[in-house]
Amino acid sequence: MIGYRSPWLDDELESFRSTVRRFVTDVLAPREPAWQAAHRVDADSWREMGAMGLLLCDVAEDYGGSGGTFAHDCIVFEELAYAGVASFGKSVHNICAHYVVAYGTEAQKRRWLPRLASGELVGAIAMSEPAAGSDLQGIRTRGVRADDHYLLNGSKTFITNGQVANLIMVVAKTDPGAAAKGISLFMVETDGLEGFRRGRTLDKIGMPGQDTSELFFDDCRVPVDCVLGGGEGQGFAQMMDELPYERTIVALYGVAVMERAVRITTDYARERHAFGQALIEMQNTRFKLAEAKTIAHIGRVFIDSCIVRYLAGTLDTATASMAKWWLTDMQCQVVDECLQLHGGYGYMREYPIAQMYADSRVQRIYGGSNEIMKEIIARTL
Ligand SMILES: Cc1cc2nc3c(=O)[nH]c(=O)nc-3n(C[C@H](O)[C@H](O)[C@H](O)COP(=O)(O)OP(=O)(O)OC[C@H]3O[C@@H](n4cnc5c(N)ncnc54)[C@H](O)[C@@H]3O)c2cc1C
Repeated sequence: MIGYRSPWLDDELESFRSTVRRFVTDVLAPREPAWQAAHRVDADSWREMGAMGLLLCDVAEDYGGSGGTFAHDCIVFEELAYAGVASFGKSVHNICAHYVVAYGTEAQKRRWLPRLASGELVGAIAMSEPAAGSDLQGIRTRGVRADDHYLLNGSKTFITNGQVANLIMVVAKTDPGAAAKGISLFMVETDGLEGFRRGRTLDKIGMPGQDTSELFFDDCRVPVDCVLGGGEGQGFAQMMDELPYERTIVALYGVAVMERAVRITTDYARERHAFGQALIEMQNTRFKLAEAKTIAHIGRVFIDSCIVRYLAGTLDTATASMAKWWLTDMQCQVVDECLQLHGGYGYMREYPIAQMYADSRVQRIYGGSNEIMKEIIARTL
């Protein structure tokens, strides 16, 4: 947007963006079709992202991270979205790492963060189950203490990075009688773990390159020291505290997709002619694009305010929930209008707007559905 620069940006971050843009455009974007065909991202690409320092930008160098801030990660998320690289599951990887940063004991941080930063470990978050998504207190996965280990039993579904992840944060009940206080988070290293099984890669209407999967835990023996934070029963409170981070990332992706949709649709409307003129010369096209650009800009200003507050440590759950529901609703509206302006070509997969349309829909469902966001906001009325 002319004359507007996000308040969290500075010259160092702009120069970082140039490096990220080159890598994402030249190296990752050409792999997107192969990832979509394979329904997963290959392990080498994870390590390359790690070697570039683009996985855990805001984690301290002492723990193997890049020593930057959340602003650096935001730039990576934006550049992935601008280049149409929707398969790379950096968001859940970062969310997984953030749980370790926020609640891990010193030993846990040292054990997992450097390997998450390098891409040796790929992170996933396993909360949802076949019978419990929004209502997480209804989960059935159990962690039962037996001497120096826990036995994990249960199944998870819809898990992003499910086929490639080898450090999975598993939400499980350790005391079924204690409601929220009976939930614990287990950081489970899955390489060689007996009883752990990956199920189907689920067949989705969008995000074909993301390996959204079922996971099964059958008497998995996990060491006692994989309980996040070192003690049982803190899981629900830990999840509630981390939600603003996750929701800001989902909302930021929504804004970046809107910005890209407006850009590529404006280009298309300049090139395509009908009735002797370019589409962009028709008032309806200009008005629809003007509306979309306005919404994207309002979205940008709102998400920037969330990022600034996140960086300052003052972003509250209700505001992050507002950003998540409103910006993802607007994302779907804007992308739908932009597809319409492409006519029949908008429905063809070879045009990026078609993939963006299919990919956008889930944004209103995961990360806490938009209905749940409104419940959270309504509690502050
Ligand atoms: C592509 C994809 C990736 C995902 N990745 C992950 C992941 O990595 N890890 C993970 O744990 N989960 C993941 N999920 C799961 C996602 O978080 C859940 O689908 C979501 O939380 C909704 O849960 P549900 O599907 O069980 O729907 P339900 O909870 O059954 O909800 C069904 C409908 O009822 C509404 N509803 C439910 N409760 C209320 C209420 N109290 N008030 C009003 N309306 C309500 C919901 O909004 C929704 O519209 C992913 C899902 C998808 C589709």
